[in-house]
Amino acid sequence: MKRGCNVLDFLDAGFLRLLELRGISRRRFLKFCGSIATLLGLSRLSIPDIASAIEKMQRRPPVVWLDFMECLGCTESFVNATYPEVDKIILEILSVEYHEAIMAPAGDKAHANLWKAVEEGDYLCVVEGAIATKIPSAMCVGGMTSMEIMEKVGRSAKAVIAVGTCATHGGTQAAEPNPTGAVGVYDFLKDRGIDTPCVNLPGCPVNPENLISTIFHYLLLGRLPELDHYGRPKKLYGQTIHDNCPRRAHFDEGRFVKSLGSEEESLGYCLYKVGCRGPSTFSNCPSVMWNNRQNWCIGAGAPCIGCFEPYFWDRFRDFYKPLPDVELPGVKASADKIGAGIAALTAVGIGVHLAGSAIKGRTGKKETHVVRPEEEK
Ligand code: SF4
Ligand code: SF4
Repeated sequence: MKRGCNVLDFLDAGFLRLLELRGISRRRFLKFCGSIATLLGLSRLSIPDIASAIEKMQRRPPVVWLDFMECLGCTESFVNATYPEVDKIILEILSVEYHEAIMAPAGDKAHANLWKAVEEGDYLCVVEGAIATKIPSAMCVGGMTSMEIMEKVGRSAKAVIAVGTCATHGGTQAAEPNPTGAVGVYDFLKDRGIDTPCVNLPGCPVNPENLISTIFHYLLLGRLPELDHYGRPKKLYGQTIHDNCPRRAHFDEGRFVKSLGSEEESLGYCLYKVGCRGPSTFSNCPSVMWNNRQNWCIGAGAPCIGCFEPYFWDRFRDFYKPLPDVELPGVKASADKIGAGIAALTAVGIGVHLAGSAIKGRTGKKETHVVRPEEEK
């Protein structure tokens, strides 16, 4: 039996046998476990433990996936996860009790699945999309508002995983003037006094590898990963794009793309002057990338618009205009002055490399300037 067989029919045959039936070698499976270990920030020594835990995963953990105000891009991103198919098998093993966009039943039958899962409890809740709080009727499913559904489902869940910037911070719906009062799940639950653990995985859309590794963290360790003050896993969202960008050497040396489609762009020069938000965006895009790690925005010559950041539609508007300022060691440089700023530093004897290291925080003395929403208010 090859691809296309029903995974659940073969669970009794053992996980490794299942992989074999799908034409996936143990070596490939261990490679997958290695990528999970890396994403979770675990040592490579943990790979055998991860593999063993997955092999022994007998019970199908129930998952309820809610869709509110969004474009279904996160579902699209998730179902198109292609990393080497092992993840797909594992996701088939997860018991997705309710996902109105991809489940076979519709209407009342679909909703019956949802409320049955809620009644039975012990489920993980994944949420895609924002909740409408000012005009609740703007988002209804099966005669209930997003507020009513989220409150009921979120209260009984073991944990809530908000996927995509709409679910984490309201997304484009929450951009000014936010007519529906769109909010993210974490704020909504907090406002209602619901203390179900909640993790935010922003991105427009969510990166499927970040979602899979977070689910794994929960399944393998029984808890959510360590989070930052925006509720994001520190291991996945702990560094800026600028810190790990392959175009970074050009930034450090003042070589910039001045217009898209130019020769400088194809030469891999820095995209800062055509609006790149990499210096203010915390994301693992440079390492995880997209489409089976094929490429990503900056790799394709497009400036980062900061879609992993809270409220990026408002904070980073005018996407092709440079960020107003970035701090260099001893110089507050505007986009126009940034190259000159570095040249001046070189002239006074500070090497460009050292300057770059300080900007990146490598020396531990100076960090890239980060515009936080609370700084702006
Ligand atoms: S500004 Fe953007 S393109 Fe330039 S180095 Fe930073 S992240 Fe990379
Ligand atoms: S590079 Fe920037 S715009 Fe592109 S997916 Fe990552 S965070 Fe979003």
